[in-house]
Amino acid sequence: MKKIENIDQIFKLLRQELTKYQLPRISQEKWKEVNRTPFTTLVSCILSLRTKDDVTDKAAESLLKYHDSPDKILNLSEDEIASLIYPVGFYRTKSKKIKEISKIILDKYDGRVPEDFDELLTLPGVGRKTANIVMVYGHNKEGYLPIDTHCHRIPNRLGWIKTKKPEQTEASLKEILPKDYWNEFNSLFVLFGQKICVPISPLCSKCPIENYCKKIGVKNHR
Ligand code: SF4
Repeated sequence: MKKIENIDQIFKLLRQELTKYQLPRISQEKWKEVNRTPFTTLVSCILSLRTKDDVTDKAAESLLKYHDSPDKILNLSEDEIASLIYPVGFYRTKSKKIKEISKIILDKYDGRVPEDFDELLTLPGVGRKTANIVMVYGHNKEGYLPIDTHCHRIPNRLGWIKTKKPEQTEASLKEILPKDYWNEFNSLFVLFGQKICVPISPLCSKCPIENYCKKIGVKNHR
């Protein structure tokens, strides 16, 4: 099986460059105001879907600061949750899902977020990205690769893989990316995608790994 060339050097250069910036909140070891647990990780991830990071962070803080467990969430009405998380995208749908998930976790799992990937996928509104994030950042498990839009776009630009969907990216990367890098991959590539290899017109002139990039599909860059 083909492996990615110069992977050690690429990760080293990315780490060096990205120390200037703050890691995305979901991958920070400690959170301000909110206790970081598998449950708060799960709810934060649901809030983040189709929502900007700064809006997600404020919503997560206002909901989870005083309601950081399924039983506390169930003390709130859907309207109360919606008003605490507003203006995250789809705040009414998310409010409903967060209540449903809290009830299932309390009734079926004794209040604890399942540590099994396939069980996580059975929760309403939980897809592969969220389940992977809960495994990596909530349960601190190894062997999982959360793929968001940045983690999907950048390996395709670099020429590592040729995939159309994040699920294909997850499977392809698992074949060519050495396992030692799986845990770090998401936080590093999300930050890199937010700051340098942005979706439109990436900052290639400031990119520490330009020499290793095939720039597949990149029409304009700065
Ligand atoms: S050279 Fe440009 S396209 Fe390639 S990884 Fe760097 S910023 Fe992204």
